[in-house]
Amino acid sequence: MSKKIEQQTELQTLPVLALRGLVLFPGMILQFDAGRKKSILALHEAMEKDQTILLVAQKDLEDNNPDSEQIFQTGVVAKIKQILHHTEDGVRLLAEGMHRARIHQVISESPFLMVEASALQTTPYRSSHKTEALIRYTQNLFERYLQNYKRISPDIVIGVVKNKSCGALADYIASNVMLDFEQKQEILEELHPVKRLEKLIQILEHEIKVLEIENEITDKARDQMNQNQRDYFLREQIKVINYELGEDDNPQEEAEELREKILKLDIPDKQREKLLKECDRFAKMPFGSHEASVVRNYLETCIELPWNVSSKEVIDLAKAQKVLDKDHYGLKKVKERILETLAVRKLAPDINGQIVCLVGPPGVGKTSIARSIAKAIGRKYVRVSLGGVHDESDIMGHRRTYIGSMPGRIMAAVKQAGTNNPLILLDEIDKLGKSFRGDPAAALLEVLDAEQNSAFYDHYIDMPFDLSKVLFLTTANDASTIPGPLLDRMDTIFLSSYTHEEKFQIAVKHLIPKQLKKHGISSQNLRITPAAVHDLIESYTREAGVRSLERNIAAICRKIAKKIVAEEVTKITVKPADLEDLLGPRRFKPENKNKSDEVGLVNGLAWTSVGGQTMPIEVAIMDGTGKLQLTGSLGNVMKESAQTAISCIRSKATQLGIDVQFYNKMDIHIHVPEGAIPKDGPSAGIAMATAITSALSKIPIRHDVAMTGEITLRGRVLAIGGLKEKSMAAYRNGIQTVIIPEDNYSDISEFDDVVKENIQFIPVKKIDEVLGLALTRKPQPVLAPKAASAPIPAQGDPMGTQPPQPVVLEQPQC
Ligand code: ADP
Repeated sequence: MSKKIEQQTELQTLPVLALRGLVLFPGMILQFDAGRKKSILALHEAMEKDQTILLVAQKDLEDNNPDSEQIFQTGVVAKIKQILHHTEDGVRLLAEGMHRARIHQVISESPFLMVEASALQTTPYRSSHKTEALIRYTQNLFERYLQNYKRISPDIVIGVVKNKSCGALADYIASNVMLDFEQKQEILEELHPVKRLEKLIQILEHEIKVLEIENEITDKARDQMNQNQRDYFLREQIKVINYELGEDDNPQEEAEELREKILKLDIPDKQREKLLKECDRFAKMPFGSHEASVVRNYLETCIELPWNVSSKEVIDLAKAQKVLDKDHYGLKKVKERILETLAVRKLAPDINGQIVCLVGPPGVGKTSIARSIAKAIGRKYVRVSLGGVHDESDIMGHRRTYIGSMPGRIMAAVKQAGTNNPLILLDEIDKLGKSFRGDPAAALLEVLDAEQNSAFYDHYIDMPFDLSKVLFLTTANDASTIPGPLLDRMDTIFLSSYTHEEKFQIAVKHLIPKQLKKHGISSQNLRITPAAVHDLIESYTREAGVRSLERNIAAICRKIAKKIVAEEVTKITVKPADLEDLLGPRRFKPENKNKSDEVGLVNGLAWTSVGGQTMPIEVAIMDGTGKLQLTGSLGNVMKESAQTAISCIRSKATQLGIDVQFYNKMDIHIHVPEGAIPKDGPSAGIAMATAITSALSKIPIRHDVAMTGEITLRGRVLAIGGLKEKSMAAYRNGIQTVIIPEDNYSDISEFDDVVKENIQFIPVKKIDEVLGLALTRKPQPVLAPKAASAPIPAQGDPMGTQPPQPVVLEQPQC
């Protein structure tokens, strides 16, 4: 085809230089190195003549010595402008393309190629709209090319914009863009300028597409690389930080170590597989990543769990008794119950019996007796405090998807014990809360239920764990606030408040030696006299247990330790007179009870979760309109009880010598001191009735009498709870007579011996009996003229004829 258009001119004999991978276009300048022998000789030939040479591309780049057959037939006649310099391998030269030429005849192949060639004239054409459009299109195309291929100098861009001829533009662009030499050769061989430009457009469009895709790939790769580099950089930083912190563990090694530990665990295959799978996951995780540390923690927790590690349980009742007696004074009944439970465990070790719940006020030794039990039978001891737990996951653990998730308190306790048969003390089970995040009491049921706990499922551990060998013990201050279903599963053992004497013995035998040892003081250095201990109990503590007594003894030890070190004294005796120096002013007056018989003031008895206490009740009567005022943070039940008492008295007004219209003419104010402490319950009924009667009839109440009992409208006295604790409080306060409901009479057998020896308990059925015992004289019936002249009865006579009869207690019957 090109032959047709070709217009031959006269033949010219020229040396030929084969270009490797390059194509020169007319009007362009090319700088290249020539090193092959044939090329150098051809150059010499040209330089010796008129510096013109035919530059033709060789077909095969690999060919080191191409002959006339292995070069294209069309090339460019060029003028050697300059030999720039001689290099090691030849010369570097600058040549300018003159015009296209075609080889006609080979004159010689060696020592260099010499040919006869004719110059090729490009076909003339007329510029038209089409050519102009083509040129513009090409220029735009070139612009797009530039956007994708940025390494083109601005001069070239100007050259393209200026060029307004199709052929020259095609040549210009072809020589300046990155094209294969075959593509360039194709352009060179096309003699028709318009077609040449069209060919170039085709090539350029293809090239732009490829470049666009290439750029897209490069961008993506760069982004990826940037991300990878960033991660790599951060990880390297973590490594350095860990190295500085001495925590430079290799993740692969770590995973291997974990794997070995997992393989050594004595657990079912299914669970082992699960852990190994997690371990594989861990090995593949990027070092230092958050997820890796979550998985590592999980695996370490699972590995540390005592899946099959048990301590040897020895149930030797004699030894257990010894340990319990050594650690705790008194608590006879409690110890007996515990030994019975242990005996059952020994006979039927696999049967999980009831869970023991120790109920009693604070400081009576619930926690410490649990610790002693563990010691006595050779189990590890762990205490789990349940006070304030109101979230199910506190017991059952958080699922691992949560950040900062961890096992529940039960599994954490098992892990801490390091054995699968520890004694776990669930302390303060009555203080369990409840929230929208589930009911922890329900979760505890699962833990304590012998049927279910052999496969206890903690959400964090995510595998069943056998809790059936764990010995659970619970404690509570108040059994009534333990959730019902939980209480059902438990065997409650009540520990009551200590008497003064018991506190004294505990202090002397246990607390003082314990604190001396803790403070590094020997018994030769410090002696606290018995009188000082009594004074300490009386004047510095007011409690059911011995916690604050122990705290005060510790405070004395601290002060003495300082004295021993500073003053170098070696022997100190603490007497009652020294206590104010050591502990500050006495906090409680020895006796809190009323010292004289007064009108409208009665000794009630109250029971709280921290033990029993005396509760004086005051009543004042004023002229008024029959208003009733109740103060002292009284609860609804107590308010109703006061109203019942008033109605009962109204119905008996005549008999009691009270103005029947008192409810119209007088205001009654009932106050229960320590006003800030909330009080409730029906047990102050008879005490309020007595105080109101006394206030209305102006008859004083005996100050050495205390009472407790619910009252009905008809004046019957009903049974109440917590009598043991209340009687203890009465004893502490030096009360000699306690009036109790007859239905509570059987409770007396449970009372402490000293209490029974020092207090007369008088059981009553009716309020009349109470009034007869508590008022200092018998009321005069108003409308009974005969009775009005009757002699004033002796003090405390229920019917006004006999002095109060102390009840002779039978021996307690259990
Ligand atoms: P709780 O758990 O009932 O609140 P703790 O067990 O914490 O009471 O007891 C408080 C302190 O009193 C402990 O140091 C304990 O050893 C001591 N303690 C309580 N009761 C006795 C006792 N009967 N004999 C010896 N120490 C006792």
